[in-house]
Amino acid sequence: MRQFAVILLVFTTLAAAAEETTDLSIVNRIKAEAFQNSQVMDHLFYLADVYGPRLTNSPGHRAAAEWVMKRLREYGLHNVKAEKWGPFGQSWKLTRFSGHMLAPQYQPLIGMPLAWTASTKGVISGEPVLAPLRNEADFGKFKGQLRDKIVLIMDAKNIEMSTEPLAHRFTDQELFTRAKAPDPARLGPTTAAARAQREAAAAFRKKRNQFLRDEGALVVLQYSSRGDGGTVFAQSGGSRDVNDPIPPPTVALTPEHYNRIARLIAHQIPVKLEFDIESEMIRDQTDSFNVVGEIPGHARKGELVMVGGHLDSWHGASGATDNGTGCAVAIEAVRIVAALHVPLDRTVRIALWGGEEQGLLGSKAYVQEHFARRDTMQLGPEYNKLSAYYNDDNGSGRFRGIGVGGNDMAKPIFEKWLTPFHDLGATAVTGETAAPTREPGGTDFTSFTWIGLPGFGFLQDPIEYDTRTHHSNMDFYDRVQPGDLMQAAAIEAWFVYNTAIRKDMMPRIPMPKAEK
Ligand SMILES: [Zn+2]
Repeated sequence: MRQFAVILLVFTTLAAAAEETTDLSIVNRIKAEAFQNSQVMDHLFYLADVYGPRLTNSPGHRAAAEWVMKRLREYGLHNVKAEKWGPFGQSWKLTRFSGHMLAPQYQPLIGMPLAWTASTKGVISGEPVLAPLRNEADFGKFKGQLRDKIVLIMDAKNIEMSTEPLAHRFTDQELFTRAKAPDPARLGPTTAAARAQREAAAAFRKKRNQFLRDEGALVVLQYSSRGDGGTVFAQSGGSRDVNDPIPPPTVALTPEHYNRIARLIAHQIPVKLEFDIESEMIRDQTDSFNVVGEIPGHARKGELVMVGGHLDSWHGASGATDNGTGCAVAIEAVRIVAALHVPLDRTVRIALWGGEEQGLLGSKAYVQEHFARRDTMQLGPEYNKLSAYYNDDNGSGRFRGIGVGGNDMAKPIFEKWLTPFHDLGATAVTGETAAPTREPGGTDFTSFTWIGLPGFGFLQDPIEYDTRTHHSNMDFYDRVQPGDLMQAAAIEAWFVYNTAIRKDMMPRIPMPKAEK
């Protein structure tokens, strides 16, 4: 009996390994299409230079969606549409910004207004006051002193000298270290604590906005937790809820400029600043959308392989690396797969999400509609049809591997698929030992893993994602490395192709329990 079991085990192991045969003639054709006939930077040009920024539901986001749909149809995709979800709330766009120091000397100010904050009433000028509002107790200290003032709400920033280059590629050693499993004692659920922290911070920001509004602040100045040297990170300063009060015009300045103003105030030297900020709340369409399209399958056309990124961006630049790159790579991957003209067993579906930057709203809504709600685990029509979803949302960096998010069974499959791309730097399969069904966070594949579906994110070289581009005023086309996107598109196309023709669907982790 035991002998039989051993034989059976050997047999099934061999069968599993044997199944992942890789068709190198397809690799060859994919590489030729991806490297000699690449269109990936052209996709990025339209997404970033022509239609960026793409704040959810802004005119840029909507126009980018129209362009994507046109391009997907040109590539022969079927069922191309903008699939509605909602409500999202109001959108916002910036139409004008300038900031200047007029006294004691003239200096143009480098800054970026925060989304969902108000306009100035034309060109305004005023005196700045330093009023660090660290907690609610600080409100009392400045009550009655902020009317018609330009208010600096943070202490001067301690700017540390940077000794590292802004851009970085993983060394082999770093990649090796990242592929190592973390200490299992550190895998425990941290989501509740993190969520409580986020909610507390958001509640405080809301109270601070109300205080500044009630006090009649003319403009609010701050800096971001990351960035200096003219790189300014700017996200939301207000609310998508049409019923919430609109905070005063709020600008993130490069910390060197912020600190100069703060030091002058501390020395009681009169400072005069001028701002001209014009923005617009957009309320004509409070639902949002995801853009989807398909390459129809054949033998198992009811089953699905999904691939995507998020089409929306922040507003401070053109959203080139966050996530123009992920969208351009996904569009290019489906173009390459379609150009192979090989019948696929499963249907390939591209999805470019909206509302990612506001909390993965588009992918969460999609997953609830098509697959399952986590709070009931009541299954939607396609829960048992999805083989895998592949996501690219870490900027320009080339693919160095893929994370399996706690799915041990996927590891040997991905290791086999990566083999023909080892010479292009993609070698690592990470995350076998990971808590797989954590609350969605970070990026869109976690909306899938949250309900037990095989969702995977590629591991990418960081390049300048955290130091310069991600949510900043410098997220532009030129910060994207064309060779990285070509490599990423080839690998993504290869993973999509393999998943579409593989005999079985990708193995899954056990279905999680319903959880509020
Ligand atoms: Zn992103």
